[in-house]
Amino acid sequence: MSEGFKPVKLYEENLRLKITKGSMDGRKLRELRKNALKDMKFWEEQANSLTWFKGWNNILEWNPPFARWFVDGLINASYNILDKHMETNVKNKIAILWEGENEERRKLTYNDLYIQVNKFANGLKKLGIGKGDRITIYLPMIPELPIAMLASARLGAIHSIIFSGFSAQSIADRINNSQSKVVITADGGYRRGKVIKLKEIVDDAIRSCDSIKNVITFNRTNIDTPINSIDKKWDDIVNNADDYCEPENVESNHPLFILYTSGTTGKPKGVVHGTGGYLTYAYSTTKWIFDIKPNDVYWCTADIGWVTGHTYIVYGPMLHGATTIMYEGAPDYPKVDRFWSIIEKYKVSILYTTPTALRMFMRFGNQYPESHDLSSLRLLGTVGEPINPKVWQWYYKIIGNERCPIVDTWWQTETGAAMISGVPGIELVPMKPGSATFPMPGIDAVIFDEEGKEVPPNTKGYLAIRKPWPGMLLTLWNDDEKYRQVYWSRFPNMYYPGDYALIDDDGYLWLLGRADDVLKVAGHRIGTAELESALVSHESVAEAAVGSKPHDIKGESIIAFLVLREGYTSNEELKNVIVDHMRNVVGPIATPEEIYFVNKLPKTRSGKIMRRLLRAVVNESPIGDITTMEDSTAIDEVKKAYDDLKKTIR
Ligand code: ATP
Ligand code: MG
Repeated sequence: MSEGFKPVKLYEENLRLKITKGSMDGRKLRELRKNALKDMKFWEEQANSLTWFKGWNNILEWNPPFARWFVDGLINASYNILDKHMETNVKNKIAILWEGENEERRKLTYNDLYIQVNKFANGLKKLGIGKGDRITIYLPMIPELPIAMLASARLGAIHSIIFSGFSAQSIADRINNSQSKVVITADGGYRRGKVIKLKEIVDDAIRSCDSIKNVITFNRTNIDTPINSIDKKWDDIVNNADDYCEPENVESNHPLFILYTSGTTGKPKGVVHGTGGYLTYAYSTTKWIFDIKPNDVYWCTADIGWVTGHTYIVYGPMLHGATTIMYEGAPDYPKVDRFWSIIEKYKVSILYTTPTALRMFMRFGNQYPESHDLSSLRLLGTVGEPINPKVWQWYYKIIGNERCPIVDTWWQTETGAAMISGVPGIELVPMKPGSATFPMPGIDAVIFDEEGKEVPPNTKGYLAIRKPWPGMLLTLWNDDEKYRQVYWSRFPNMYYPGDYALIDDDGYLWLLGRADDVLKVAGHRIGTAELESALVSHESVAEAAVGSKPHDIKGESIIAFLVLREGYTSNEELKNVIVDHMRNVVGPIATPEEIYFVNKLPKTRSGKIMRRLLRAVVNESPIGDITTMEDSTAIDEVKKAYDDLKKTIR
């Protein structure tokens, strides 16, 4: 049966809509992409934007699946982000505009950062930390987080940042995997007006971690914390340290950091990134995607605990000497307009956020963004999940006032930086709501069928990357075999991200959901994003997640979990309306067999829907690793909705 992409009626109108305002014809971008793929010199030119202590002998050594970029080149990340700017007028420019959840404010110039990073690096050195040692960082969104990262990089140590919402067990697992010597934390962090006692969580975690020699605690909230023999105070470390720390010259492929994936599809993986290749790719993609100008105020709303924060709050923008916003707290606290008030207050010009946040704001209503002056915005970005066309339109109209291009950036912890995205820094091409547009220059993306044969345009299949790129992971920490098996065995010697996608007639790439989650209904393969976007296009639906159940005739039947928008009540009548809507906008095969209304969907702490849990509930199978789940009551709700419905059926 046909695998063709045949969305119909309204769905098609939404998806195929081209927004061409102010756009050019794409010739320049096409040319650059063509040349970049032809010649490795392209990556050499990119790497030349950074400062190297010694040049490389080889641009790439490729022993599949292991790539080494800019071999024998010597570099230091913190030198490129700090020392380099000390010679220009970026020195006194603001690097970080920080706002605490309690509206406290701090401003740090690049010079301030330089001083703090040097001192803190010297402090770490005194504790015996040096090249190759692992440092675990468990800090809230405060300036000390990038300071600790850059101090680690200065010494050639390897940072492993853990999002500060994780439990003691998750911290212990990551410390034991990476064998960190030090943990850097804070006494507490603010979340929705409450203090989360981070240091206590760390103490609890390290009871089972023999590798830890010291715990460094920053005083953020002034709460009492127990002091143990291995504890050091951040302030003591910095106050007693010398002002200058020589940056370690590391070989380009020396690991800069380990970062664990979000855990959406299973147990998190310890992704390892190198230095020279990663920085090159972070630098170039930041320039192409965000095109940051000297006066821009840039805000990436991610937490630095995720890869988005690593690459697009710290490494990428700071290599460019950008002014970035750092916000400590919850996006809807104390009021649901917190984001919009920050944009107005700091005159943010570039906003980079997630579909999950946008769906939440949409659900609250337009009155909140509309009561703020958002006219400083000039560019909008999204990352993390496919953006539903309906949500894209809202972002474009209500937040961007139809003036701001949207860059939909597809990438992964493993890819280091964005792989598929609009690139206003090169050329703005017409946008299609819901499509991430084109692969980055130098990225050889292709869609394969089950057997690894390239599919024609408009045919769904599995995304793969044919050539290595500088931002790619080096390996999984201490697990080369798993690295090979997870990413390089599906299609031999090609990188397999595990996402389902298609390329349309115009060459635009559409991400259709996770390969693991693809449904097979009546001979058709359907990506979750296709159905969820159609569900969200109904006026009553704020969020949707689909799963499936085995079905005697169809193979699989579609199960939908829905969160309604404010003002709608869940009942049988609405279910029927939604079923009709799906029949009309996608077609009869998209008819959900069962619909469950819930107040929240199970998500990772990075905000991604965990569809594998829905599948497990409806198939009554084990739910697997849930250590990265944000709110465990969400899965209880899903179970309850499922049990309630089952009772009515029996
Ligand atoms: P795990 O690998 O542990 O299951 P994860 O894949 O969610 O977790 P991340 O590296 O944080 O971990 O997320 C990468 C994934 O996020 C991509 O593979 C893709 O499925 C999804 N994604 C990210 N950005 C986009 C986007 N712009 N459009 C569609 N999907 C996206
Ligand atoms: Mg993944």
